[in-house]
Amino acid sequence: MSEQHDEGYDEWIDAIDRGEGYALECSNGHGSLPPRRLCPECGDADLEKRALPDSGTLDTYTTIHVATPAFTEDAPYTVAIADFGLARLTGQLRGVEDPEVGMRLAVGVEERKTEDEPLLVFRPA
Ligand SMILES: [Zn+2]
Repeated sequence: MSEQHDEGYDEWIDAIDRGEGYALECSNGHGSLPPRRLCPECGDADLEKRALPDSGTLDTYTTIHVATPAFTEDAPYTVAIADFGLARLTGQLRGVEDPEVGMRLAVGVEERKTEDEPLLVFRPA
């Protein structure tokens, strides 16, 4: 199984890595994440880049003990969803023993252990 990302996603990951992460906002104020050409909520094609805040809050998380092949050597790991205002991001949560919903998290890009693919990672802010 290979993961195919289009250029919009790679560009977005690079921006996160530089600390210049962004979300997309349509003219009706709906937030979404790249790659998008249309707002997923209303179909608006007028999407503007908006900078993400420096930190978000932990919404929910789950610890994975049995991983898919792409993550075998990473297991166990914790997948989290964090609220960054305009958008909710999904990534791995690292550097936290006992995650608490609502805790402040910063987002960055790190390597995963199993494959040489950039990975969205949250750490305590
Ligand atoms: Zn919209």
